[in-house]
Amino acid sequence: MIVDGFNRVHNYLRISLTDNCNLRCFYCMPEEDYIFTPASQLMQVDEIEALAKIFVAEGVSKIRLTGGEPLVRRDAADIILALSKLPVQLTITTNGTRIHEFVEVLEQANIRSLNISLDTLKAEKFQLVTRRNQFDLVKKNIQLLLDKNFHLKINVVVMNGLNDNEINDFIEWTKDTPVHVRFIEFMPFSGNRWTSNKVFTMQQILEVIGEKYLYTRLQDEKHDTAKKYMIPGHAGTFAVISTMSANFCGDCNRMRLTADGKMKNCLFSKQETDLLTALRSGKEIVPLIQQSIRSKAKELGGQFTADFEHIHAEEIHNRSMITIGG
Ligand code: SAM
Ligand code: SF4
Repeated sequence: MIVDGFNRVHNYLRISLTDNCNLRCFYCMPEEDYIFTPASQLMQVDEIEALAKIFVAEGVSKIRLTGGEPLVRRDAADIILALSKLPVQLTITTNGTRIHEFVEVLEQANIRSLNISLDTLKAEKFQLVTRRNQFDLVKKNIQLLLDKNFHLKINVVVMNGLNDNEINDFIEWTKDTPVHVRFIEFMPFSGNRWTSNKVFTMQQILEVIGEKYLYTRLQDEKHDTAKKYMIPGHAGTFAVISTMSANFCGDCNRMRLTADGKMKNCLFSKQETDLLTALRSGKEIVPLIQQSIRSKAKELGGQFTADFEHIHAEEIHNRSMITIGG
C-alpha cells in the first residue's frame, strides 16, 4: 500500500504520456516559446508498462492517461492497449481532436468513460483559448463517442470574463444530451498568467446556475474531486471542481507520473522523484515511491492555502500544467 503521513491511501495514478499538444490553451501552456521534450527523454512504452505494474502491485487500482495531449503520441495506441491488460480501471483525459482515430482502440481497451476538455461552445472563442481552429472537430468527436454510448465528462475551465457567461449554455446542453459537465476553477501554474481575479469560484458558478435552474446535490463518491449536481429532467449532470475555493486534499488518493518519468505526489508539489532514471539504472523503485508519498504535504503541495485571493502566482514553484499532466 502507498500511504502518506496523513494516512491517505494512494491508489490512483495519473500518467502523462507527453508534454506535446496540438492545441495551445493559454492557461496550460507557458507564455514563452515552449520546446516539447524530445521523444528519447520520454518514458517508452515498456517503461510506462513497467512503472505502472510496480504501482499496481503497490495497490493502484485506477490509472488515467493524460498530457499534454496523450493522443498525439505516435505510440499512444500501444500504450493504451498495454495498460488495458493490467487489473485497473483505465481512463483518459483528452482534448478530443484525435478521437476519431482512436475509437476502436478505446473500445478494444475497454475504456468506456472519458474526460474531454471543451471550455466554450463558440467556435471563435475556442480559437481564442486554444489558438487552433478545431472546434467543429472536437464537437463532432464528442458526438461520435455519444453515439457509441461512452460515458463523457466534459472539462470546462471557467475563467472570469472569458467563459463565465457560457455556464448556463453548458447546462442547457445537458438537458437532452447525456454529458457530464465539470466546471473547473482556474488554477495557477508556471507561466499561465494566473491572477486571483480570473478565478470564477464554485459559489459564483452555483449562483449563475441557480438563477435559471433548480438543481440538487448528488451523493459524493469516495475521493471525488468534483461536487456533483443534477437538474430534474436533464439527461446529463454537472459538477464543480473547486480546487481554489474549497479544496478536497483531505481525501486525496492521487499521484502523478510526468512524461519524463518524474513522480509528483501532488499536482502542486515542488519536489519530484526521478523514477525513470532509477528504472533505467536498475534501482529499486518501490522505496522511491514510498519516500515520495511520505513527504506529501497536507494540502495544495504545501505551496498555498485556500485563501487564494492572496496567492502570488510567481512565488509558486512548479512546472507548467502541460508538463505535469492535468
Ligand atoms: N490535453 C488533454 C486535455 O486538454 O484534456 C489532457 C491534458 S490537460 C492539461 C488536462 C486538464 O487540465 C484539461 O481539462 C485542462 O482544461 C485542465 N487544465 C489545464 N490548465 C489548467 C488550469 N490552469 N486550471 C485548471 N485546469 C486546467
Ligand atoms: Fe493541450 Fe490540454 Fe493543455 Fe489545452 S489543456 S494546451 S489541449 S494539454
